[in-house]
Amino acid sequence: MPVSLIIGLTGGIGSGKSEVSRRFEALGVPVIDADQIARLVVEPGTEALASIQHHFGDDILLPDGTLDRARLRHRIFTHPDEKTWLEQLLHPLINQRIRDELQQATATYVMLSSPLLLETQQHLLVDRILVVDTSEMLQIERASKRDASQETQIRAIMATQLSRAERCSRATDIIQNHGDLVDLDEQVTKLHQLYLELADGSQPS
Ligand code: ADP
Repeated sequence: MPVSLIIGLTGGIGSGKSEVSRRFEALGVPVIDADQIARLVVEPGTEALASIQHHFGDDILLPDGTLDRARLRHRIFTHPDEKTWLEQLLHPLINQRIRDELQQATATYVMLSSPLLLETQQHLLVDRILVVDTSEMLQIERASKRDASQETQIRAIMATQLSRAERCSRATDIIQNHGDLVDLDEQVTKLHQLYLELADGSQPS
């Protein structure tokens, strides 16, 4: 029987999505990771990787035959039409794979974690949108500490994502991640209870 409740988890870079998804997983909730699926669909041997190689040339691959992500990122950053081409190739494949995994999931409810849930069509696959929100200042501070990267790099990624206000306006539920990790635990526990109740209520009796 398919799961009765699917939660889409999203948030900007450094908002705390990974911390939140780890907590739901620890509570036994299966979390499907869209980033991980995005890597799987271009593994060596896939048709998608062959198309990318054909389109961009052999030097889009590393010597071991895997995709040179840094080179591809740079290429699409400087060529918006190439970005569109790549998205049109990959988004349907990623979404199909997500649908397959959602169908196979057996749990009271399941979570789809995706930084681009709202920027792609992935939000159509979920029942509720859970946004992890924090200030831009904290996003930059936490992400730059985690990745040892520069503020300008983080800001460049933020510029490709929805604004904080837009994301929050589309949320069903919001985790306010401005406090410490204990505060985060409490919010996750409360939402977990809510989702269990909602999933239970939507089961046919
Ligand atoms: P995202 O997956 O949204 O990019 P992460 O969950 O990786 O963000 O969080 C970014 C960094 O900030 C990580 O190093 C994480 O451990 C840290 N972090 C997240 N939330 C908090 C918090 N409430 N207090 C302290 N550190 C946090």
